[in-house]
Amino acid sequence: MTDSAVPRTPVVAGNWKMHTTLAEARALAAAVRDGCRGLAEIRVAVCPPFTALTAVAEVLAGSTILLGAQDAHWETAGAFTGSVSSAQIWDSGARLVILGHSERRQGLGETDEVVQRKVTAALGQGLTPLVCVGETAAERAAGQTLAVVTRQLVAALGERLAVEVGRCWLAYEPVWAIGTGQTATPAQAGEVHAQLRAALGRLAGPAVAAACPILYGGSVKPEVTPALMTESDIDGALVGGASLKAPEFIGIVRAGLEAKGRAGVSAR
Ligand code: PEP
Repeated sequence: MTDSAVPRTPVVAGNWKMHTTLAEARALAAAVRDGCRGLAEIRVAVCPPFTALTAVAEVLAGSTILLGAQDAHWETAGAFTGSVSSAQIWDSGARLVILGHSERRQGLGETDEVVQRKVTAALGQGLTPLVCVGETAAERAAGQTLAVVTRQLVAALGERLAVEVGRCWLAYEPVWAIGTGQTATPAQAGEVHAQLRAALGRLAGPAVAAACPILYGGSVKPEVTPALMTESDIDGALVGGASLKAPEFIGIVRAGLEAKGRAGVSAR
């Protein structure tokens, strides 16, 4: 079930991964802030490493750019060396958190169950979880794409009440497309996004499904954004590599606005 009639606000989020010194993070955040000044009808977010959250929060103060973290532990506090809790992320000024990124699932052994616990904790803290799902190249080749992403979605959100699912954002990030330069085609991504929205509808009802932003991630660049974001169920982009260069990231924001037919300029 898809509903292209619902005017979801587009979202473009940058995942800076394990990049940027403090000085680089401040400069990149300032460039994004200035490049997006006056833009309306779109949500823009940046997700720096933990070490730069408070510095970037200061740079973004007073702007409409949303600050996000790249992960959060499921406990509020305790003996979890090296981890950062949702409470600490909230305290830094971030209001969004990426959870279940494939680099954590694949590289750090994060399971569906761990992602579910993290989503629960983030929601409890009032953060917006940006929950990532995506299949490997082998899973796609085996025809398992839709089953894999549906399983990941249900595992992350299935035990939540409908009202809480409505506080999550989703990202479809095929593992084979992340950092490879091999972007999914609009048709490939559009099919999965429609499936995710249908699964959300079964979990939480059609209104929640119709309102949920579902972003595509995987080698997004300004030049591929218009075709991707013209797909009715693709509401935006989660951008890795290209988010480290302000002109490219801002180019994706502007291309997304145009693809969605938004004027994108505030009255201010
Ligand atoms: C990501 O890290 O979420 C991502 C999509 O990376 P890239 O844009 O570099 O493929």
